[in-house]
Amino acid sequence: MGFFDNFLDDEMRLIRDTCKTFAEREIAPFADDWERNGTFPRELYKKAAAAGILGVGFAASVGGSGGGAMQMLMMIEGMMRGRSTGVAVSLGSLGIALPPIIAAGDRALIDRYARPVLAGEMIAALAITEPGAGSDVAGIRTSAHRDGDEYVVNGSKMFITSGVRADLLTTLVRTGDDPHGGVSFLAIETSSPGVQVSRPLEKHGWCASDTAEIFFQNVRVPAANLIGGEGAGFPLLMRNFQSERLALAGYGYVTAELALEEARRYAAERMAFGRPIGKFQTTRHKIVDMATRTVAAKTMVYQVASRLDAGEYCVREVSMAKNVAAETAVSVSYDAVQIFGGLGYMRETFVERLSRDARILPIGGGTQEIMKEIIAKAMGL
Ligand SMILES: Cc1cc2nc3c(=O)[nH]c(=O)nc-3n(C[C@H](O)[C@H](O)[C@H](O)COP(=O)(O)OP(=O)(O)OC[C@H]3O[C@@H](n4cnc5c(N)ncnc54)[C@H](O)[C@@H]3O)c2cc1C
Repeated sequence: MGFFDNFLDDEMRLIRDTCKTFAEREIAPFADDWERNGTFPRELYKKAAAAGILGVGFAASVGGSGGGAMQMLMMIEGMMRGRSTGVAVSLGSLGIALPPIIAAGDRALIDRYARPVLAGEMIAALAITEPGAGSDVAGIRTSAHRDGDEYVVNGSKMFITSGVRADLLTTLVRTGDDPHGGVSFLAIETSSPGVQVSRPLEKHGWCASDTAEIFFQNVRVPAANLIGGEGAGFPLLMRNFQSERLALAGYGYVTAELALEEARRYAAERMAFGRPIGKFQTTRHKIVDMATRTVAAKTMVYQVASRLDAGEYCVREVSMAKNVAAETAVSVSYDAVQIFGGLGYMRETFVERLSRDARILPIGGGTQEIMKEIIAKAMGL
């Protein structure tokens, strides 16, 4: 029995294996090209939907294939076998864009948006961050003014994953003056007149994913696209952050696992001074430290996911797990590059990609420092 087996049941293993098989067949052979070109074919969304992958974590009643936090982690573990975090997070942007619609949207919104997105027919993105407001979410300025049966939206959003080709933006807008009470979610179709999407932003990592700046100029959105009423944005956003941060923690320990796997293999093959470099005590100990940090991070993320699935309130622990797993991804992938020597600095190696992809994890979905502020508040400090 493996160390982590007591967290898993057969259904979870099946999700992981299904995603792994899909990723090894449909992503890995093309990952280098897609990373280089900064994009991947749109039809992959439909293929992933047909394999039941896009629906993981969403109830069958809205078009999903069921499951909770542990199932989401299984999906991430499997999909990361495609060797491109960028592809995995692009396919996964619905995981942060749909929950507010499903939690608070009416049946019409769910039918119009959630079902086609889960079927891979529409692409959805979550648009919170603005050029002037990232960590300080309550500082957003994109405004939505009611005008009859419509809202008129003006402003801009920044760093939006899947934003270049999204059909739907779950957008945080300002509908009132109160910093927290005056924000709301609006479902905005990118085909609406006045929505302008930038070219893909050039990034350090996650290169196959498209990331956009989006401008809204007098965009008219049906009032029926308001999600959960005016002023309902903040609580929905806070809830959404929990699953987003847990997912990023998942990408963290999986990144570390993959980097460790690569480093172990290379250390056994690469010869120096007449022996494999893995036979030097410094390398051996480095690999042991990498493995120890990875197991610690994975154990913590599994534990938090299991508690979430059991219905427990885990805001503090989710923030802790995100920080631990993100730091582990950064440090383990850094060490893996070191073990690869000069080759680890080359685009042709997977550890080079993993080390770039890891860097966003302590930044996206709430920075390392913001996680510490949340933890401090929860500890009463
Ligand atoms: C590749 C990528 C994909 C992304 N995808 C999305 C997406 O799909 N949707 C979306 O809405 N956003 C997305 N983002 C945005 C991301 O969530 C933000 O970049 C992140 O929240 C940080 O905001 P910021 O960049 O404005 O940094 P800032 O908030 O300006 O922070 C800059 C620095 O100041 C620190 N800081 C700020 N406030 C405090 C404080 N109170 N105490 C201590 N330190 C503080 C931060 O920790 C950070 O180190 C993405 C970003 C990237 C790079």
